[in-house]
Amino acid sequence: MRLESIIKKSRKLSRPFRITKGEAFRLKGVDPKDTLGFGPDEKTRARQVLAMGIEALAKLQDMLYAQDRWAVLVIFQAMDAAGKDGTIKHVMSGVNPQGCEVFSFKEPSDEELDHDFLWRCVKRLPERGRIGIFNRSYYEEVLVVRVHPELLEHERLPLEAAEIFEHRYSDIRKFERYLSRNGVVVLKFFLHVSKKEQKKRLLERLEDPRKYWKFSGDDVKERGYWKDYMDAFDTMVRRTATKDAPWYVVPADNKWFTRAVVAAAIVDALGLARPRLSGDGPGAAQGTRSGPARPPRREVADAGYAPCPAPCLSRWLA
Ligand code: ATP
Ligand code: MG
Repeated sequence: MRLESIIKKSRKLSRPFRITKGEAFRLKGVDPKDTLGFGPDEKTRARQVLAMGIEALAKLQDMLYAQDRWAVLVIFQAMDAAGKDGTIKHVMSGVNPQGCEVFSFKEPSDEELDHDFLWRCVKRLPERGRIGIFNRSYYEEVLVVRVHPELLEHERLPLEAAEIFEHRYSDIRKFERYLSRNGVVVLKFFLHVSKKEQKKRLLERLEDPRKYWKFSGDDVKERGYWKDYMDAFDTMVRRTATKDAPWYVVPADNKWFTRAVVAAAIVDALGLARPRLSGDGPGAAQGTRSGPARPPRREVADAGYAPCPAPCLSRWLA
């Protein structure tokens, strides 16, 4: 299938889960079991869709690298066992490792706690031409920290807790707008698993020796705060889903479906970054950066790729 039509199909598959205006969002309205009508007997078809997405992703990543103008930041947030790791592994399996980096953010170290909450993530932002994947991110600061506000004590902040989270949503919105204006396409995925499915997966980890290493007592402890986490995810999406940095709330009870949607969303975003579109896309009307343009990377210059002049791709995504 031609790249063009894969991109079109990818858009169709991923757009139902894309949120750009947070205010109207309600997490209750998203069914973790949703598969957009793909039945269990169509799993194979969904896997083919994923395989096509992965192939398209590899081609588009080459172009992104060649273009050397945009960077893509992909953020994953979820409850434990929702499938972040597996999704990252599968979706990125076809891409050139040179153009892609994954960072996992755990509990902050002493050094990290000695800085503002965005600091450790800013250090890991992708370079132009590359895809950066954050497995957890600065959003933990309005998730786990919101559910366990006592964690704020370690952060030694000057403000009262009640204001801190509103400030954080606002700071995150502005930060992501800043990134978007500087050529970083921000895509955020919340993998929405049900409490029942999480229980099944945690039990599998306990019962299957091959999965036992994945089991952590902390996951069970955090499960006890399910309702608080769902409220925190709901507010997070409502406050931070914007045109600059949309959230994709992806049903995660069926791994095959989650992976297909995530791949499709990234293909959709990269599709819009293609240099081919640079001459006639809506962004072109907004002019080019002042100063001499940086030439495309030498090794691909002969392939005819040219830098895209659109100053804010994420807006174009809307
Ligand atoms: P996996 O379990 O698949 O290895 P994971 O992302 O769950 O992946 P863990 O080491 O189990 O990794 O968990 C990381 C923990 O770090 C999570 O409980 C998360 O909430 C916590 N964490 C991440 N960022 C922060 C933060 N800024 N403040 C406090 N806790 C955080
Ligand atoms: Mg974990």
